[in-house]
Amino acid sequence: MSGPAGLLELRQAIAKKLHKDNGVEYAPSQISIGCGAKQSLFNAMLATVNPGDEVIIPAPYWVSYVDITRLVGGLPVIVSCSKEAQYRLSPADLEAAITPHTKWLVLCSPSNPSGVAYSASQLRGLAEVLRRHPHVGIIQDHIYEHLVYDGFVSEVINKVDPELHSRTLIINGLSKGYCMTGWRVGFVAGPAYLVDAITLLQSHSTTSTSTISQWAAVAALEGDQSFIARNNAAFKARRDLVVAALNAIEGISCPTPEGAFYVYPSCEGVIGKRTPDGKTIANDEDYVAYLLDAGVSVVHGAAFGLSPHFRISYAASTESLTEACRRIAQATQALE
Ligand code: PLP
Repeated sequence: MSGPAGLLELRQAIAKKLHKDNGVEYAPSQISIGCGAKQSLFNAMLATVNPGDEVIIPAPYWVSYVDITRLVGGLPVIVSCSKEAQYRLSPADLEAAITPHTKWLVLCSPSNPSGVAYSASQLRGLAEVLRRHPHVGIIQDHIYEHLVYDGFVSEVINKVDPELHSRTLIINGLSKGYCMTGWRVGFVAGPAYLVDAITLLQSHSTTSTSTISQWAAVAALEGDQSFIARNNAAFKARRDLVVAALNAIEGISCPTPEGAFYVYPSCEGVIGKRTPDGKTIANDEDYVAYLLDAGVSVVHGAAFGLSPHFRISYAASTESLTEACRRIAQATQALE
């Protein structure tokens, strides 16, 4: 059995990975293993957020950021990042959102739900603002780092600006790039005093994730990595298929994201239309309910804090995606 921080062999493999893939240096003692990235994030928030602390969350956001912040007594400060802004937080909007109560900026790149990722120069723009506010920490959720297309390289903010290293927590895990969701292996890397607090908390909840999963994670990180490029070629083809099919539908507009396995199209053009049985599509929730009746399950943008949009996961077969897009097109064309 491992201790609550996780097997030393896994923490060593992660330290090596962070050096090799991300260009950042961590000792194994600055890494704590959790039951998935979600638990690592939960532990990090519970260990650090006091009642009334503010957590800046760019929208569209992964839903758990908001709920975990609330659960631990913090105040989510949602900053809307429109389609026109490519769903990215701008330095000016970050600056405007920071107050003396800000504890964290949560940055998800590549993003669930938009698929959008920040380039090194975009991260540098945010880092310049953060340098002026030394009380603000950065949680970078890097779980989709390996799922990037067209030569994009996903960077961590403390590599781009090493001055932020001592106040950055990297959250990552093996659920996405390594397709090991059910194995429940995530981790947090950061300054030792925070990581120690996170490990202490975990020692009183789940103790650790399963030792079997941890050894599997060592094998995954230290084994042949060529499957990542193969998987990405398949994901890129699916992304391109879905983006092209959606953009061919009148009323839908779908940007091409850099990574993850989601697209986040706007459905602004269908709002106000009527379904064949006379119901008005008043918002994105009405639209996705209508699509559900047409046999396609997608998630409305309001759930992720930015409307009128919807999210499609293209972690599905080419056949299913082709059929789903056909049904979306047929149902949308039937709107008046
Ligand atoms: N972070 C983001 C942005 C995610 O989309 C997910 C899973 O959907 C997670 C973290 C959680 O991953 P894990 O399965 O490692 O808990």
